[in-house]
Amino acid sequence: MRIVLLGAPGSGKGTQAQRLAERAGIPQISTGDLLRAAVARGTGLGLAAKAAMEGGRLVEDSLVLGMIRERLGESDARSGFILDGFPRNLAQAHALERLLAELKQPLDAVVQLEVDPAELVRRISGRRSCADCGRVFNLLTSPPPTGAAAVCPKTGAPHRLVQRPDDNEATVAERLRVYDEKTRPLIDFYRSRGLLRVIDAQGDLDEVTRRLVRALAPSAGAARARRPRAATAAARRKVADGRTRKRSAKSARAGTRSKKTPRRQAPRAKK
Ligand code: AMP
Repeated sequence: MRIVLLGAPGSGKGTQAQRLAERAGIPQISTGDLLRAAVARGTGLGLAAKAAMEGGRLVEDSLVLGMIRERLGESDARSGFILDGFPRNLAQAHALERLLAELKQPLDAVVQLEVDPAELVRRISGRRSCADCGRVFNLLTSPPPTGAAAVCPKTGAPHRLVQRPDDNEATVAERLRVYDEKTRPLIDFYRSRGLLRVIDAQGDLDEVTRRLVRALAPSAGAARARRPRAATAAARRKVADGRTRKRSAKSARAGTRSKKTPRRQAPRAKK
């Protein structure tokens, strides 16, 4: 399964991608996480990305594309992946399409997570993540478990909850603006490619995961794909019927079958 999760900041892409990744046994690839790790390590990429991230702007395409090309080339991505936070604009979407065509691994689906703007801001303000394992929690909607379950799988100690530096009011406003301007057009882009599925991402976390899983079920895509195919088949039948009718009239007149339409082709055209 190769999918993209689309949605505004705070729509729950990270949380749902984590859940889906665990369930499907494929990696969640979050460009935000990769960039934050580069910033924390102080690499060249991190240094180049830091200012844009702190201002809530998009990091330069060439940096993000280099990073994603490298990540998708790793062996664990061969069995599938969930892209979270990438692509973020049309140039990235086109570049991803080219890259996946090169790798012969086209996308299976793109899911848009729909959340009201007021709810987005509320969710972002409650968001915390573990500084060690990166797991995302929300003090309002999905607080970290308590007791024995509250252990970080990386350290074996309780999760160390931190708030992202760009989850402050001013930066959030800019991130939402950037989403509307640069990322929202991807909805139409993927709709035009027949890949888009939209889910209501509000309400109970488990229920949203169920909606996501349902949206990704082969039958959801098949139903979508069947409709146009059925229409095409009907159109084909109409043409074939027309041809048969014409041919019958001609044959009746000539008393023969046309050389251009050998007998064995007739049943195939009727399928
Ligand atoms: P996220 O964790 O997805 O909300 O991303 C945090 C920040 O990282 C964004 O506000 C951007 O500054 C940067 N970022 C993440 N993904 C991308 C991307 N695909 N293109 C450009 N910048 C990105």
